[in-house]
Amino acid sequence: METKIGLEIHVELSTETKMFCPCKNEYGGEPNTRICPVCMGEPGILPSPNFEAVKKAVKVGIALNSKINRFSIFTRKNYFYPDLPKGYQITQYGTSIAEGGSVNIKSGSVYLERINIEEETAKSIYTENGEVLLDFNRCGIPLLEIVTLPCIKSPEEAVEFLKELRRIIRYLGVSECDMEKGMFRVDSNVSVSKEGRAELKNLNSLKAVYEGLLYEIKRQKEVIEKGEKIRRETRLWDEFKKETRVMRVKEEELDYRYFPEPDLPPLELSTELIEKIKKEIPELPYQKKQRFVKLYFLDEKDAEILVSEKELADYFEEILKFYKNPEDVSSWVITELLAYTEPENTRKLGLSASEIAQLVKSVNENKITRNIGKEILKRSISEKIPISELIKKEEKSIIKGDDIIESAVKEVIEENPDVVEKYIKGKKGVLGFLIGQTMKKLKGRADPKQVGKLILKKLEKNS
Ligand code: ZN
Ligand code: MN
Repeated sequence: METKIGLEIHVELSTETKMFCPCKNEYGGEPNTRICPVCMGEPGILPSPNFEAVKKAVKVGIALNSKINRFSIFTRKNYFYPDLPKGYQITQYGTSIAEGGSVNIKSGSVYLERINIEEETAKSIYTENGEVLLDFNRCGIPLLEIVTLPCIKSPEEAVEFLKELRRIIRYLGVSECDMEKGMFRVDSNVSVSKEGRAELKNLNSLKAVYEGLLYEIKRQKEVIEKGEKIRRETRLWDEFKKETRVMRVKEEELDYRYFPEPDLPPLELSTELIEKIKKEIPELPYQKKQRFVKLYFLDEKDAEILVSEKELADYFEEILKFYKNPEDVSSWVITELLAYTEPENTRKLGLSASEIAQLVKSVNENKITRNIGKEILKRSISEKIPISELIKKEEKSIIKGDDIIESAVKEVIEENPDVVEKYIKGKKGVLGFLIGQTMKKLKGRADPKQVGKLILKKLEKNS
């Protein structure tokens, strides 16, 4: 049995205004305050397309290696539902703004069928009393519908593809892709045999995508093993019960009576415009990663982490402007900074790039030890004290004079005669241990290089 998964992703574009009217495109706020006759579907209205949204759609198409259609049309998709005041959704059917395309993941490529521009529906809010409330602020927000071919072979691949897709769209700056806010929504179709497949809806997080697909594949395999047939149906993932259940079977599926939108002219794009948008595409994550590896001699793994979010990658390069030591800066960012926050929130820690640079530099120049550096970082984050101030304080308290260090060295040597003997017999590697013990005694307030020198001096005397 061969598993085939196809995904359909809806992405809300971040634009000034909605897709076909001048209402503001914002998230949240007082319900039903950003509405007008156009997005409320009142009779006699005339939609007019949002050029900013069209350009952003083209941008996504180019970044996903799709063919941009210079000519496409808007279509009415007719169905009745409370969140759709017009009784139809303006979408694209038959011709799309972009066709084909691919996204590279570790195991190969995921191929796209098409990208459509369409409009968002209102947001339904289900209350505890069983009421359904509608917020039309969301109605008419520009939406991209990205459809893949059924070429994804496992839930792992699906999640990897979605992460990469989301990352590319975020890099382009055309959507926040916040799944919790419904800005990036995933539907899927799954089949494990030639006959029969199911659509899977309500996958509201990457975890839901993974678990939902895993469950559905297992369910379909069991049905086939029992000698039964997979019905064509739409199923909902229940996050709490961890199962999928039938929403509707094929027979009930709606006929959308698509026809070209009579109130909108065809969407025509000039080659010049497409070329212009092409030039505006920023460096994309996989390109950035390659550059980091080549330019900064980072290893693939570290580069991958650093480019995981554009914010983090930019932050990293900003720190380098103040201290050009990619290896150590990357190590501090990855092992220390990311211990405190998610990659997309690094700037929210409130640490300026120049201060981080100073911290790494001070450690490298042995003005403070790495452990004290870590302490400083921790204090700066929790107590909001600038790193520079903390470094100054620490520098003062660093033990500079040989005498205090020498007495600590003496103690360590006396306490570890067996280690000293190993050293004398030629096991030079134990020096690190002796340095570590001495640093511990000095509570890290010494320069390890200086400590090392003094230990060597002392050992030479002993032998
Ligand atoms: Zn409106
Ligand atoms: Mn759609």
